[in-house]
Amino acid sequence: MENWLNKQAELAPSKTALIFEGRRWTFQQLNAEVLVLNGKLQNIINKTPCKIGLLAANTPASYLTILALQGMGIQIVLLNFRLSLFELSKQIELADIDRVLIDDSLQTRNKELTNLAKVTNISCWNLSQIKHLGENKPNVVEEYEDNQVATIMFTSGTTGNPHGVLQTFKNHFFSAMGSAINLGLQADDLWLCAVPIFHISGLSIMMRSLIYGMPVLLVERFEEKKITQLLQKLPVTVMSVVPQMLKRLLESFPTVGYNSKFRCFLLGGAAIDEQTLRKCIALRLPIIQSYGMTETCSQVVALSFNDALNAVGSVGKPLFPVQLRIDEETKEIEIKAPNVTPGYLGKSSDFNKKLTGDGWFKTGDIGHFNKENFLFVEGRKGEMLISGGENIFPDEIENAYAGFSAITEFAVCGISDDQWGEVPIGFYVAPYEIPNNELIAYGKKKLARFKIPKQFVKVDRLPRTASGKVKRYELIMKLKD
Ligand code: ATP
Ligand code: MG
Repeated sequence: MENWLNKQAELAPSKTALIFEGRRWTFQQLNAEVLVLNGKLQNIINKTPCKIGLLAANTPASYLTILALQGMGIQIVLLNFRLSLFELSKQIELADIDRVLIDDSLQTRNKELTNLAKVTNISCWNLSQIKHLGENKPNVVEEYEDNQVATIMFTSGTTGNPHGVLQTFKNHFFSAMGSAINLGLQADDLWLCAVPIFHISGLSIMMRSLIYGMPVLLVERFEEKKITQLLQKLPVTVMSVVPQMLKRLLESFPTVGYNSKFRCFLLGGAAIDEQTLRKCIALRLPIIQSYGMTETCSQVVALSFNDALNAVGSVGKPLFPVQLRIDEETKEIEIKAPNVTPGYLGKSSDFNKKLTGDGWFKTGDIGHFNKENFLFVEGRKGEMLISGGENIFPDEIENAYAGFSAITEFAVCGISDDQWGEVPIGFYVAPYEIPNNELIAYGKKKLARFKIPKQFVKVDRLPRTASGKVKRYELIMKLKD
């Protein structure tokens, strides 16, 4: 395939490619800046192909750096700036990289990052330093090979052990295609990106922009009032959100609604509770629910808004051309699609364990199809608990308690129990301690008895990953402290 940015600079030179805080770049302008950056980056990268680490923020500096590295044929190892130095150094070692570029804006958000070079013995460059390097003739890869690794991205670490996922150009391309076939492409599409570009939720928006020739409205941090204003004032058509973001946006939903061109929220990353879904339906706020993972380069299943009421709780149907099946015995969701990663960093055995004998990818999620072929994701294999012989998924209990008015956040995990094998424990965030009997009485109205948590613990906040998912294993550790 022809280099995507080159192609758009030829096809749609004067079309807007990027908007950030009132600044605007056309594809031609973006390409011109990326080429200058390409020349400057050559001062610190003397051989290609190679791998370079990047601690990216949602800023034009990081956005352009990703495009420049991609155009140089460099594999970009995207790192999460919220990680501790210890976690980052483990990922840097696994990725076997000797240099990391850091967005300047991150130093204030994670003070530890200033010590990254010392702790890891690698060379670190702030993006502002690169601006001051000498210019060289750009060295651009004209063609992307399908199976060439474009990016390496770590999974969220929700289950404790992030994997470094290899994402090829083909993976990104088919992911973008599946999304376009599902959502449709419109000439005036403008995608708001407030999800991190170091995660697949954000990076996939960048890739769609290059492949569709579509503008991206980049936002550095999610802040519901600011986003609400943007959704009202600018002709944004689509915005990607995780459940936490959607909930906060609903709290400040304007009576006049968003701009008239707004098409939908693309919701992914974790399950949404029914209460929130019904609120959206009442407000006629189109939500496309989706299911996907870093290993599939974003969504592989999506539920259209028209189906939302017919299949409440479902994540939808597999997108074109994704194949999805459920293992009869384990109920694990398995996928075969051109957007599935070819592997992880590190030992090939780690990835091979995730493949079935006939080459399908085992997601680690448990699910089922209903009669109309809508997929329901019940939870993660490792997080299902068995209590007195009954299977319990934390999501189901969390969903039920989402309706308890004083509770703003709720999470469940299982602990071992002499009598039942395992029992669920509920963790909640609320302005005051809620009496146990109230919580139990509420649970009885919604859940089978064995699903009602055996203990409730009030916490100040739930431990979450950068994409807002609850790290249940950390809650269990808290209980043991
Ligand atoms: P790790 O693999 O490191 O434990 P992770 O699985 O959370 O972290 P991601 O690739 O960011 O890392 O997330 C993908 C996972 O998120 C899916 O496998 C699934 O468990 C969950 N998920 C995504 N979308 C949905 C959804 N709509 N409903 C329920 N779960 C979802
Ligand atoms: Mg995972």
